[in-house]
Amino acid sequence: MSVGVAVLGSTGSIGRSTLQVISRQRERFRVVAITGHSNKDLLAAQQKEWRPAFVGLVNGGARDTGNGIRRGAQCLVEAATHPDVRIVVNGIVGAAGLEATLAALRAGKRVALANKETLVMAGDLVTQAAREGGGEIVPVDSEHSAVLQCVTGRLPTELARLILTASGGPFRTWGPERVSQATVAEALKHPTWTMGRKITVDSATLVNKALEVIEAHYLFAVADEDIDVVIHPQSVIHGFAEFVDGSVLAQVGFPTMELPILYALTYPERVPDSGVRRFDPVAAGALTFEELQLDRFPAYAVGREAARRGGTAPAMFNAANEVAVQLFLDEKIPFGKISGVLERVLERARPGDATTLAGALAADAEARRLAQEAACS
Ligand code: NAD
Ligand code: MG
Repeated sequence: MSVGVAVLGSTGSIGRSTLQVISRQRERFRVVAITGHSNKDLLAAQQKEWRPAFVGLVNGGARDTGNGIRRGAQCLVEAATHPDVRIVVNGIVGAAGLEATLAALRAGKRVALANKETLVMAGDLVTQAAREGGGEIVPVDSEHSAVLQCVTGRLPTELARLILTASGGPFRTWGPERVSQATVAEALKHPTWTMGRKITVDSATLVNKALEVIEAHYLFAVADEDIDVVIHPQSVIHGFAEFVDGSVLAQVGFPTMELPILYALTYPERVPDSGVRRFDPVAAGALTFEELQLDRFPAYAVGREAARRGGTAPAMFNAANEVAVQLFLDEKIPFGKISGVLERVLERARPGDATTLAGALAADAEARRLAQEAACS
């Protein structure tokens, strides 16, 4: 019997890659539920192709339409807790994915998590929901999938340090003056990955990597000071795990999200016919590594500070970043102002309770308000 999968954010980059992966694994997996935000036409086309039991569209009021599409934000939790679903692929962008992840974990399901923002926003709550409900979080993010592949079968006490790789984004070799004035089109031109707009901007500021450090902290229970980041422009090595004896394992492959998505579905097993490009070391060519210079990526530095502080600081950092990135994409603030907004919000952040949903949501809301204010000043 095939395993039922819900794909939240099926119209996005991760969602579409997930359907692509499942199309090669139809014996093993079937699509039970899909959800989109506002891309009605693509959602309808996916509905036609996959005939899922449940289709949800977040935008457009609470009215159901005649075509079997559930409308409104509650459709995410309904899809995530559908009785025929065993694995929820959460490919939603931003804080909007939190409730569905919590609900799925409480219902004992596996969450294949791409939606890193919600682990940053409420890591304690999410990991607690998994413990209490018997659900499990399996990362889709390529760096975290790499680490998982390196540590699977090892004891947590054997793990000493994680090293996450970062491509460095489109501005790796630019001077600070030019970066601060970068246009939206320039920020959206990622050298190695094709992704949604928000994460592509996060990869240009390297906020994405700060979010990933916090994500790794919650996924692997490693202290944030034991998580390092190195710039690796070729994006061929996705992550390293260093063990207490000094031995280091790395996971290697050409950049594609299809492999981490497949692994999150089949974990801890591996299956043949993944359809991904075979690795060829000669074709990969020289692999290089550079130190990440904090002064070149000030927004990343703010994120590391939020990680160090803990509590609600990561939630506030994440929410402020969501606001700042949207303002940049709407051409309301220059690229160089994103880090300034994050800095201001963290300066003014008051400590809050990150262990309750109310606390996380309050921190998120407060940071959004502060970020709007900081953007205008
Ligand atoms: P995307 O913008 O391409 O897709 C986002 C999806 O979320 C869409 O289906 C959209 O309809 C849905 N969505 C947007 N706002 C929503 C809301 N308020 N409520 C419900 N649904 C909403 O983004 P993406 O690149 O697929 O990224 C999705 C997540 O995966 C992000 O958290 C990102 O950081 C993470 N991620 C992406 C990649 C990648 O290669 N694309 C890699 C690693 C991690
Ligand atoms: Mg990543």
